[in-house]
Amino acid sequence: MGETSTTAAVIGAGPAGLAAALGAGKAGADVVLAAPPQGVASRTPDLRTAALFAGSIALLKNLGAWSQIAPHSAPILAIRIIDDTGALLRAPEVVFTAGEAGYEAFGWNIPNAVLVSALMAAAGAPGSRVRVLETAGITGLSLGGDLARLTTQEGESFQARLVAGADGRNSISRSAAGIATRTWQYPQAALVTTFAHTRPHRSISTEFHRPAGPLTTVPLPGDRSSLVWVEAPDVAKGLATLDDTAFGNALEERLQGLLGGVGEITPRAVFPLSGLTAEAFGRNRVALVGEAGHVIPPIGAQGLNLGLRDAATLAECVALALARGLDPGGAGTLDDYNRRRRPDVTSRIATVDVLNRSLLSSLLPVHLARGFGLVALKTFAPLRRIAIREGLGPSGDRSPDDVPALLLADGVRLLSERAAAKSHSSAA
Ligand SMILES: Cc1cc2nc3c(=O)[nH]c(=O)nc-3n(C[C@H](O)[C@H](O)[C@H](O)COP(=O)(O)OP(=O)(O)OC[C@H]3O[C@@H](n4cnc5c(N)ncnc54)[C@H](O)[C@@H]3O)c2cc1C
Repeated sequence: MGETSTTAAVIGAGPAGLAAALGAGKAGADVVLAAPPQGVASRTPDLRTAALFAGSIALLKNLGAWSQIAPHSAPILAIRIIDDTGALLRAPEVVFTAGEAGYEAFGWNIPNAVLVSALMAAAGAPGSRVRVLETAGITGLSLGGDLARLTTQEGESFQARLVAGADGRNSISRSAAGIATRTWQYPQAALVTTFAHTRPHRSISTEFHRPAGPLTTVPLPGDRSSLVWVEAPDVAKGLATLDDTAFGNALEERLQGLLGGVGEITPRAVFPLSGLTAEAFGRNRVALVGEAGHVIPPIGAQGLNLGLRDAATLAECVALALARGLDPGGAGTLDDYNRRRRPDVTSRIATVDVLNRSLLSSLLPVHLARGFGLVALKTFAPLRRIAIREGLGPSGDRSPDDVPALLLADGVRLLSERAAAKSHSSAA
């Protein structure tokens, strides 16, 4: 008997892979998602939270995951930047409010573990086209013909026309497709945790700009916040090994009383800061999604927002290919995907890099430029509105046709309408 064959296989059941699987399913593809057996993932819990912007929230709604996530998430209504660099020119405190740019909220802060389990539940819900294949991992990927052939660690094989490689920064699907990367390191690491505090956060996320990197608090439900504290790697490691009382005192001092006393602290984790970008996001039947295609430092909350836009764009490319009777894993579809993702990913990587390096630099002109930038942002409302829209992703002022349908309200209906329209126009 021949091997089973599916339209799309997704390698990696992190948040980007799950969204890609659900998105491709909404686009009309039958999807096999390679995921670890239930319970295995929880042995290495993801302690991070992700601040996700409005487009990502719309995607989660369209994928049927939001109702499970909403009770565990907190809105971000304002972002405050405090210059704590000790530079000669101390920039004024700048507060951006979502309301001034016409948004209900900048986004919502969501624990990664909640996000993954809600997306997994949506994958298993009635009507889903996603079949979850429990495996310790995909170990073989052979590409080259009209179908990709995948082999699991347990020795099971199956075929797919398209492979969504969402297998993280050390992606085997990227190497199998022969896609080279550019990588770089920063002399920094991010310490993450969540903590209780005695003063309310008032739904404000605060960024302290410090010489070693930013320290950011992001609201969680109740009087709790998540923390991303960027430091030199040895300092971050030292902070991670302090006992809770000593760590609470150090944090309280850094927060300058902003959130009052620091209470219960959850386990801490440290992530070295690095960057990666793939030379192509699609080739040889493989479309790279999430950190398999790009890794970006956790500054400005861009990483997973980009990964979810990858998933939404891939879904649209698949919908269009299926509507036109084209190969969803063929070169045309993958070139289209690559072309549509490149500007968004490149511009986010560049902005985050400049921001981060401006803090690390000891050069006075760099500090002055950053300081004047913040003064301009504080005093000039139109500039602030532009900065807000740019920070939140591609939806800003652009035409809805530039934005993947799955990022828009009622994106599933739009996706099928667009696919139907394209198939009519190509038939005509
Ligand atoms: C400190 C920190 C804070 C952050 N904060 C934010 C934020 O506020 N907002 C934001 O948008 N982003 C944020 N990010 C970025 C965000 O966390 C990442 O973009 C996101 O977690 C990446 O998801 P992913 O699904 O691409 O990769 P991963 O979560 O790494 O998932 C990859 C999956 O693939 C699986 N896998 C690997 N190899 C195989 C194989 N061979 N077979 C099968 N499965 C395989 C892995 O087990 C894993 O489950 C932050 C990052 C850090 C480090």
